[in-house]
Amino acid sequence: MSNERYYSILYQYKQTRKGIGLKQSDYTIATLASHSSLQILKGAKDEGFKTIAICKRDSEHVYKTFNVADEIIVVDDFSELTTLDKQLKDQNAVLIPHGSFVTYLQMDKLMDLKTNYFGNRNILNWEVDRGQQRKWLSKASVIQPKIFKTPDDIEGPVIVKFFGAAGGKGYFLTHSREDFDRKIAQHHGKEYILQEYVVGTPVYAHFFHSPLTGELEIMGFDKRYESNVDSVGRVAAKEQVELEIETSYTIVGNMGLVVRESLLPEIYAMGERVVEASKTLDGVGLFGPFCLETVITPDLKMYVFEISARIVAGTNPYINGSPYTDLRYNEPMSTGRRIAREIKQAIEQNETEKIFK
Ligand code: ADP
Repeated sequence: MSNERYYSILYQYKQTRKGIGLKQSDYTIATLASHSSLQILKGAKDEGFKTIAICKRDSEHVYKTFNVADEIIVVDDFSELTTLDKQLKDQNAVLIPHGSFVTYLQMDKLMDLKTNYFGNRNILNWEVDRGQQRKWLSKASVIQPKIFKTPDDIEGPVIVKFFGAAGGKGYFLTHSREDFDRKIAQHHGKEYILQEYVVGTPVYAHFFHSPLTGELEIMGFDKRYESNVDSVGRVAAKEQVELEIETSYTIVGNMGLVVRESLLPEIYAMGERVVEASKTLDGVGLFGPFCLETVITPDLKMYVFEISARIVAGTNPYINGSPYTDLRYNEPMSTGRRIAREIKQAIEQNETEKIFK
């Protein structure tokens, strides 16, 4: 083979690896069938992509009925995603991460995946580490609930949270060392943090930051429906005490919400600061969908107690778009669809290296 021909083939190979010259039909959108996958797959189909759902054996049947996956790959456990890596890469799939990726896959395994991945994996590392997350939010100058270093420091209402995104399962409230000691006994050996419990209304703000245009969009808001805390009010206070009911925060679902319009400028500014601050973390920063989890007090102070650096299940009520996306788009625009649109644009503009990190 002549040198010229060799270098021409090598050049072509490198361009293809970067995605240059590939068309939308060369890509397939893939995700784990749980959390927000129905929305992601539907959005991808609406934007003209082929789709793959990686499905647990016992849920294949129901996922089929929604008709959003062109192909279903059945697994016994989501951790098998790592063994599917080669197959997905050969299909030129694009993985869309969501909450189940963080819950079911180890971070180092996620980092090693060779399949195209929408988003910045480095930033997910910051999300899963509560300490790092706090540093990031401090850089963004958002108000955060206090952290108490030891149970002896407990003062006022405190929420005890366990590590790992477990949907609030087992979290409990406490107010003193004695009360804490009694309640923690059932959670022997688990790692926890003690966080100031802010009395107010929880509001989850959904954003999308485009690395192609540099723009930040508000996608919507939700509130969560949690067991048993959201139904404690159905039992009279006297009976709550008699029955020794303790609150728990197991997430069961999400409900749509619109916020007071006058809160929007501050919410948007917080989103912008969080994106700006993320750039100092790894030089690239956060892009795509993310969520600021807040509690708003009666004097309208917004405390951010957590950030999710990927799509959240709170966007699921908006498969047909939210009141906010309705303002900007003249078509139903879910967060899942917004992701697919970003990928589509990046392919058209030969800029996939900006969105697959
Ligand atoms: P997960 O870590 O599983 O996402 P969350 O951190 O969202 O769980 O918390 C579960 C529940 O506890 C939610 O209802 C949330 O509103 C509430 N919550 C969490 N932190 C605080 C806090 N500091 N003050 C008041 N409520 C809180």
